[in-house]
Amino acid sequence: MPAKVIVRDLRKHYGGVHAADGVSFEVQDGEIFGLLGPNGAGKTTSVECVVGLREPDTGYIEVSGIDARQRPGDVKQKIGAALQTTSLQDKITPREALRVFGAFYRNRAEPQALLERFSLAEKADAPFDTLSGGQRQRLALALAFVNNPELIFLDEPTTGLDPLSRRDLHGEIARMKQGGHTVMLTTHNIEEAERLCDRIAIIDHGRIVASGAPHELIALSAAAPTVFLATTQPLDSGLLNRLPGVHDVTSEGPGYRFSTAHVTRTLAELMKLLEARGIEIGELRVQKATLEDVLIELTREGRE
Ligand code: ATP
Repeated sequence: MPAKVIVRDLRKHYGGVHAADGVSFEVQDGEIFGLLGPNGAGKTTSVECVVGLREPDTGYIEVSGIDARQRPGDVKQKIGAALQTTSLQDKITPREALRVFGAFYRNRAEPQALLERFSLAEKADAPFDTLSGGQRQRLALALAFVNNPELIFLDEPTTGLDPLSRRDLHGEIARMKQGGHTVMLTTHNIEEAERLCDRIAIIDHGRIVASGAPHELIALSAAAPTVFLATTQPLDSGLLNRLPGVHDVTSEGPGYRFSTAHVTRTLAELMKLLEARGIEIGELRVQKATLEDVLIELTREGRE
């Protein structure tokens, strides 16, 4: 099946800043695709070029088989977007906004159904300037659905939300996928990207530096696994340093953290050592590389 979004060699600069510096990626039908990167990496610029809100300098953009730079109007009928730039008049109500926005589209959803789906029924007739940040965020999502879109674009959808609202929104995004929508989102939140996305592209300085499923990206990390050990009796860190493969022993709270390239061999020796000295384990945890390790490794250049 052809990709839902194809972006090739997208470039956009502002003076000397190359906000998108040859960005290429594809979003497959029915997946949740994340553009993950630090502040200023070029996420918003890229997504706004794809949805037709910014004019790229050069590059090819295809959405649902349509050349987006040649036929932007046709693309707009098929997509929904909740972007950072969504702003509404102070006194417009959610019900009115949904009606007004829906009027731009041939295929439109029923405002009442959207108000209920996005838990806005109680605030349906409240002026926009009286809505909380979370309610405004939900309204932006509801507005993205006014045209029953095939594809949804979300720019930093959970920024500013409390943990409960963020979890609700994650549930809603997962339901979009179950409902057959393709979702592209931008985020600088690693946990959000890992939890929600089928595939992620990491962007830095306007370039995609890696892409793949979260587990594929994690496999790229050069970071060695770390072990956290706390014992009920005192333990000399020198003993840990002498175990095979162990390096970077540091004390952390009630115990020690260290890295090892050979977890099983190191732990086997550790167990012998502790047993011989009659030392009991209070806590033992092994942590493999995380998406955060990969993101830091890949985006560190130019920041140190
Ligand atoms: P954030 O996570 O902080 O929202 P981002 O990854 O979305 O960042 P962009 O907003 O795309 O990054 O910005 C990329 C770069 O382009 C930044 O250096 C930014 O200052 C610059 N930039 C973006 N829009 C403009 C503009 N309209 N005029 C001038 N510079 C811009």
